[in-house]
Amino acid sequence: MNNKEKNTINSNIGRSKFLPTSIIIILSFIILTICGMSYSGYMLDSLIYYKNSNYDSMAKTTANKVTDIISNDCSTIQDYANEICKLEYPSVNTYIVRAYLGNMVRYNGYSTMYIVNDDGIGFDYLNNDVDISNSEFFHDLDYTTQSIVCQDDTLLYIIPTIDDDNQFKFFIVAELPSVISSNKILLEDWNDMGFYILDSDKNVIAYSDDADPNFDYTSISYNDGQIYSSNQNDIGTITFSKFIKSIKSVLTSPDTYPTMWYEHSIGVNDWTIILGRSSTNKDAEVKDLLSLSIAMVSTIIATFIIILIIFMVRNACANHKLKKALYLDTVTGGTNWLKFKQDAYREIQKGKNRYALVSFDIYKYRIFCDIYGHKRANEVLVEIDKIMNGFIKRKEYCAHNTADNFDMFLLYTDEKSMRERLKEFSSQLSASQSLNGLRFAFGVYVADNKNVSINRMSTMANMSKDNDKLKDFTLKETISFFTKEMHDKIIRETEILKQFDDAILNEEFQLFVQPKYDLMLETLSAGEALVRWKKSDGTFISPAEFIPIFENNGCIITLDKYMVESVCKKQRKWLDDGLKVVPISVNLSRASFADKTLAKNILRLVDSYKLSHNLIELEVTESAFFDNKELLIDTVKKLRSYGFSVSIDDFGAGYSSLNSLKELPIDIVKLDGGFFRDIDNQDVEKSNIIVYNTIRLAHELGVRVVAEGVETTEQINYLRSLGYNILIQSYYYSKPIPSSEFEDLIKLSNQPLD
Ligand code: C2E
Ligand code: CA
Ligand code: CA
Repeated sequence: MNNKEKNTINSNIGRSKFLPTSIIIILSFIILTICGMSYSGYMLDSLIYYKNSNYDSMAKTTANKVTDIISNDCSTIQDYANEICKLEYPSVNTYIVRAYLGNMVRYNGYSTMYIVNDDGIGFDYLNNDVDISNSEFFHDLDYTTQSIVCQDDTLLYIIPTIDDDNQFKFFIVAELPSVISSNKILLEDWNDMGFYILDSDKNVIAYSDDADPNFDYTSISYNDGQIYSSNQNDIGTITFSKFIKSIKSVLTSPDTYPTMWYEHSIGVNDWTIILGRSSTNKDAEVKDLLSLSIAMVSTIIATFIIILIIFMVRNACANHKLKKALYLDTVTGGTNWLKFKQDAYREIQKGKNRYALVSFDIYKYRIFCDIYGHKRANEVLVEIDKIMNGFIKRKEYCAHNTADNFDMFLLYTDEKSMRERLKEFSSQLSASQSLNGLRFAFGVYVADNKNVSINRMSTMANMSKDNDKLKDFTLKETISFFTKEMHDKIIRETEILKQFDDAILNEEFQLFVQPKYDLMLETLSAGEALVRWKKSDGTFISPAEFIPIFENNGCIITLDKYMVESVCKKQRKWLDDGLKVVPISVNLSRASFADKTLAKNILRLVDSYKLSHNLIELEVTESAFFDNKELLIDTVKKLRSYGFSVSIDDFGAGYSSLNSLKELPIDIVKLDGGFFRDIDNQDVEKSNIIVYNTIRLAHELGVRVVAEGVETTEQINYLRSLGYNILIQSYYYSKPIPSSEFEDLIKLSNQPLD
């Protein structure tokens, strides 16, 4: 398949882009939602984490306070003990000692205080006997350091006293109530759960007055510091134990917020304090914050999506405009050939229907343009486009191609019905007032091969159209189908083109000359250079075959130059040989006239052989008029100003010969052989009138005449009877002959007549 075509089709603007864009929108929506949710979750987690670290540090402060209270108590009791020690023994039983103890009980809030000896027996501040010798802890007591123990829900400070001689004297014991006033210890911000002091076996040994006295620590099932971010059911969880070691959380019921427990050591006997906090109320604020942040994120996402949609819509509009511009034919305002190509390609690849590509154009459109001007000519194209669009059926396509060329991709069944359809179309075109009088030529290529590009189909349809175009002028339209012969012709043309460069290098092109004779004197007066291609294998290819092929590309320019030079070489040689030479004309194809420097180049070439300019003549065909008329006229003028004669070739074969005679400043008119060939008897008279008047006209304009292709004695006699001195170039006198034979003719004509 044609790559270019493939690319164009792949780049199908707009349609295919929509899909990725919607995917992008959906993806970005998902990503944004995930990001938003994660961000909200992260925010919430951070807030809860922050709150908990705050509570944790409050818990730490509380633990430190408890530690301070205990150590303060102990040092106060120690001070008292030291004072008591100073009293003279055995004044322990005295009123003073009890007064000390009584003071301490009153001012420090102890439940009782007493003194015991190393046997565990003593008295309290009210002078009651005390015996702790049977207490569990008593035997483990250290006689040198303070002990704090818990017994029967009571905290006991036990301070040993030592005298100046470092001898143990007695223990002072203060008993604390197990309920501790919370306002003495708890920070104001702490909420309602209070605190508990636990021994190393996690037994509650004391608790704050706002705590639940029946609290059973062992009933707490630890949740590894895991807290639910908000309502545990919807948001998710966060685990703090990794970061805040003291936090333990517990769920009281599956539907409520957890109770958070913060546990810290109080620095006494591996005891800890745990502070409870119900997360319910305080965390509601967090929930609000969460809602706020979700709302914010949602707004941002919504805004983003709206912007994205606006962007998409604008993009789609721009695409639409671009597509319109891309598929617009600037001449007709309809869809253009690019679109046509894409549609046709798509259909042919689908392979569902049989199609034919029909190319058509208008006869003599250029002339129509010249006569009516471009504005009117464009109106014609617009009208054709309109009728053509109305003519095609569903699943058929059409577009303006270039200049007056149009293409249609029509459903195809057989040749007969296609011909009928095209005739019907031709009638529709002719029925339009603005197209009245125009004739159309159709070329049909049946698109049965998927691998043939649309470009090529169009080329082939055009080729068949052009092949038949000039055949029959009586028809309103010509319809020609691309055939196998045409295909072979194309192959042959390609072959011929390939061989051109080698043929030039190997000098396969040979100079033949056809003599021109004076009609009256029958003497050799001039010659025309005609190329012959003799291939290395000895076979000849007719110029009628290869010249039109070379005319379609640059080859003919090289060949024309080659022929001019060949003639120059011969003329030089003959002159050098002392011969009296005659002017030889060389054909210049219309393609050569595209070069502005043509005249100069010929001048240089001829001068390089030091030839008199009147020895070289140049033949121009009327068809060169169809290209750049101004440039042609300019080049012809230049050539003539350099002293070269210029002839107009095939005069009368074209359609505006008289016009070109008027516009083109020339020296010689070459009457086309068509005037003299294949003429029926009835036409002889007409033809003679035209010939006579053309010769007369030329004579009056001071233009010389050469008659080509005069084949019979009658024609020669008739021309003679006209009385004008013209030249004859025809088989009647001689066919084109190799330059060597022409040399013999010159030599012969140089000999004096007997
Ligand atoms: P043309 O320029 O009109 O050349 C005259 C053609 O008419 C020659 O055909 C010649 O053989 C043929 N002819 C001459 N007298 C008669 C006759 O009495 N009867 C018939 N039936 N034909 C006659 P040729 O040589 O085959 O050339 C055909 C065309 O090819 C030429 O037509 C010319 O247009 C082109 N051509 C030939 N050589 C060259 C060249 O070197 N350069 C260019 N640009 N074109 C060339
Ligand atoms: Ca010629
Ligand atoms: Ca001719």
